[in-house]
Amino acid sequence: MLLKNVRFAATPKGILENVNIEIEGPTISKISKTVPVGSKTGNVIDCSRLLAVPSFVNAHTHVPMTFLRGYGEGLTLNEWLTTRVWPAEAKLKPKDVHAFTKMGIIEMIRSGTTAFNDMYFFMDEVARACAESGVRGFLSHGIISLKDKTKDLKETERFIREWKSKNELVTPFVGPHAIYTCDEETLLRSKELAEKYKTKLHIHLSETRKEVYDCWRAHGMRPVEYLDKIGFLGTNVIAAHCGWLTKNEIKILGERRVNVVHCPVSNMKLATGGEMPLPELLATRANVALGTDGASSNNSLSMFGEMKMAALLHKHARWDPTVAGVDEVLKMATMNGAHALGLDAGILEEGKLADITLIDLDSTLVQPVVRDRLLAHLVYAADSSCISTVVCNGKILMQDKIMRVDEENVREAFVKAFAKFS
Ligand SMILES: [Zn+2]
Repeated sequence: MLLKNVRFAATPKGILENVNIEIEGPTISKISKTVPVGSKTGNVIDCSRLLAVPSFVNAHTHVPMTFLRGYGEGLTLNEWLTTRVWPAEAKLKPKDVHAFTKMGIIEMIRSGTTAFNDMYFFMDEVARACAESGVRGFLSHGIISLKDKTKDLKETERFIREWKSKNELVTPFVGPHAIYTCDEETLLRSKELAEKYKTKLHIHLSETRKEVYDCWRAHGMRPVEYLDKIGFLGTNVIAAHCGWLTKNEIKILGERRVNVVHCPVSNMKLATGGEMPLPELLATRANVALGTDGASSNNSLSMFGEMKMAALLHKHARWDPTVAGVDEVLKMATMNGAHALGLDAGILEEGKLADITLIDLDSTLVQPVVRDRLLAHLVYAADSSCISTVVCNGKILMQDKIMRVDEENVREAFVKAFAKFS
């Protein structure tokens, strides 16, 4: 495939102008100023009115939760989970999860996301949905040890064995849900599993003040300090939220080079109060990525909204327009997300995976088209309507806004599965 005469290519390292991007198999094989010889054969896309960006990486979500979008508004995290989310989830069947995931994947492709880090259950269905739709899923069966200490660990190991080399788009992770739903033994057994299968750990961490207080009462220390004390933290940990951190916890996350996922919209919507200390974390060796969380608490899976909120929240809270710059935020949504997941993508460079989104420069939302303003357009102004074409693993998932998957079928299956929840 050849992306010919790309007007602009925005990467976290800068903006290229008038280049040709050649794709061979799943990889970007060459980026050059001259159109390669013999390029008339194969799939050639004229990009003279398009901006190429690395496809977004949603580093923390629960995609099947599309069925809970708009349900239980105006509640705190605890009330919302116990009175709305968990009772509804108890009615879920595997085929429902498949239908709800497919709907979420369409939303993600349309908004330029081709890789996501997910924690839920019936993960075979989520994995199947990824393989069918052509997007990358990094998938954890959520582990909770409150009632049964071994059931979820066993299911995690079964899922890893089943999917670890079944499909190149699917990567199984280990997902201990949180420190308040997993005891110490379960956290450590999760870590052992991740080490045994050379995979990553996905956990919710320091999301609410209640979590911090409960941890303090139970262990005499704060959540990050507790996880560090038991030896859980490391470069293979992806910790979502981290809204309530002290200076010492920031230092620990940096020293252990943990991947931290900022979810500003979900945090603000659930009124968790503490905002992630983003500038302080970015100054450490922690890797900070961006995630939407589920459509239930966002209520969107679009990384455009997440980038805008991340950029705005910290400027506003600090009275400082210099923090959370557009280049930094775009990097969090692409390169840093890819790094967190161990994915060789997130930047437009030769040898990287061809996960590329093409944005229509004729869209009203990105006017005027001026090189130095493109990153600001991406973070503050653009939305899904600007996206023309999406490529993942060297394959086209959407071209000129036409999806490869049959959207009508996905919608019908969604409506059918949703009937019992309405
Ligand atoms: Zn979450």
